[in-house]
Amino acid sequence: MSLDTYRRKRNFARTPEPPPKHGAAKADGERLRYVIQKHAASHLHWDLRLEEGGVLKSWAIPKEPPAVQGVKRLAVEVEDHTLEYGDFEGVIPEGEYGAGTVTIWDTGTYVPLETTPGVRVIEIRGRKLKGAYALVKIKGKKPGEKPWLFFKK
Ligand code: MN
Repeated sequence: MSLDTYRRKRNFARTPEPPPKHGAAKADGERLRYVIQKHAASHLHWDLRLEEGGVLKSWAIPKEPPAVQGVKRLAVEVEDHTLEYGDFEGVIPEGEYGAGTVTIWDTGTYVPLETTPGVRVIEIRGRKLKGAYALVKIKGKKPGEKPWLFFKK
């Protein structure tokens, strides 16, 4: 996993977001971090992040993530984020990548139940979201687009 794209998209002299640290970030014991940040950028969205291999795998969800079964949300895979990003709340300045306000919408841990290149089944232990959820990769319409579906099992 690489944070090159994360680093390339940001000017850490201008944004309050955390820069990648040297060396591997330490996980919090055996627990894997789960966080969803509400991001009031040019388009409001929710950023789902799951700790995997020392980074936060990240998906942008254009509508509020579902707390109940029966709602499938589009979740667009974006660049891996640094583990410290899971604690980030703040304002990304005008003119910077992702300009707008980031707040933590839900936080906790998760347990991976099934992991393949196109599927993640996870047990979420958050404050808002709880229980088994799935992320399933779907076919993108444009080259380079990485859409998934996110829903409660
Ligand atoms: Mn975002």
